[in-house]
Amino acid sequence: MQLVNNRYKIDGADVLSLCNKYGSPLYVYETSKIKDQYSRMLNAFKGVNVKINYACKALTNINILKFFNKLGSGLDAVSVQEVELGLKAGFNAGDIIYTPNCVSIDEIEKVVKLGVRINIDNISILEQFGLLHGNSIPVCIRINPHILAGGHHKISTGHIDSKFGISVYQMPHVHRVMEANNMRVEGLHMHTGSDILDVDVFIKGASILLDVAREFRELEYIDFGSGFKVPYKPDDIFTDIDALGKKLTGDFKKFCNDYRKDLTLIFEPGKFLVSEAGYFLAKVNVIKQTTSTVFAGIDTGLNHLIRPMFYDAYHHIINVSNPKGKPRIYTVVGYICETDTFGWNRKINEITEGDYLAFLNAGAYCYAMASNYNSRYKPVEVLIHEGKDYLIRQRETMEDLLRNQVIIDI
Ligand SMILES: *Cc1c(COP(=O)(O)O)cnc(C)c1O
Repeated sequence: MQLVNNRYKIDGADVLSLCNKYGSPLYVYETSKIKDQYSRMLNAFKGVNVKINYACKALTNINILKFFNKLGSGLDAVSVQEVELGLKAGFNAGDIIYTPNCVSIDEIEKVVKLGVRINIDNISILEQFGLLHGNSIPVCIRINPHILAGGHHKISTGHIDSKFGISVYQMPHVHRVMEANNMRVEGLHMHTGSDILDVDVFIKGASILLDVAREFRELEYIDFGSGFKVPYKPDDIFTDIDALGKKLTGDFKKFCNDYRKDLTLIFEPGKFLVSEAGYFLAKVNVIKQTTSTVFAGIDTGLNHLIRPMFYDAYHHIINVSNPKGKPRIYTVVGYICETDTFGWNRKINEITEGDYLAFLNAGAYCYAMASNYNSRYKPVEVLIHEGKDYLIRQRETMEDLLRNQVIIDI
């Protein structure tokens, strides 16, 4: 978002005009930012065969998926429904990796029929899969390297108590299951959670994975997952993707030399690719002064953006209606009948009722986690592409709320 002649713009589109045109609240995404991030990542890992699989749970609007497909990205899907969406968006089945957790073998079998690559994250399913398919369908195995990647405990997945992945200490058992069923392992995978603060910790996880990889003879790719942190506020720390690129491509090249085969290095970022490309815009309904604070109450709540309440996420808030206003202190809250606080004691340019506020970093895990709580409609989504704005999801209506309800006669 840029300030041009006292008006905020998202890739050239005037923010207040978007609010007027589409109504609030609304999500706005810019494809140019997505493209920049995608290229940044490719550049950081040039020198090896790198492939990026967009982790689509971050933002699943089909137009976003289509855009990633156009960029040449693959897809990381965590449910059969995400796989189906990806196929509808035009992805080749071979470019989708399905990485579920605690799903049934029945769901996995459905995905197998769609021709998608399967990532297995526990030994029970590995055994069942082996019995069903032997060596006819190759698999990827999700390893838990047991590193602490940092970040909030709710988004950390690589530590010792995590439910994700097969422990690196269980590799002898994995090999026994593979041999007994004559299984083919084409890929190894790790995903240690979101918000990696320390590149060295990530590299450590990666080296554990590479050590494990030496024991497999038929690998095609190694998937290092994701967890790249993006800045959420001015001067915030973020994963130094270039430093990571330099170090990891070196390690990976060396591994491929020893392995005598050029494997593909895969990443599956969600947040890194779409977080900063999204904005959430809402209107201030009331300014409410209490004895202790000034609340700005807006026309949305945890039903539309739950990250601040769910994992204390910080979303920077800007008053787009008053770019030159004097900063004052506000607590920004929603209209839901819960304590849905978006931000405490925020310095925001003076707010008048009717002003529009912009939440930054609203591309990842925002709309995707929206609900109908309090029987509110989900917001619209708008895409800015090459200077034009497109409605990519309509606001819901009462019909949507009632769609699957069965009204009985009692
Ligand atoms: C959620 C998820 C990702 C994406 O994580 P980000 O922190 O958004 O980059 C990647 N891989 C798997 C398996 C995931 O579950």
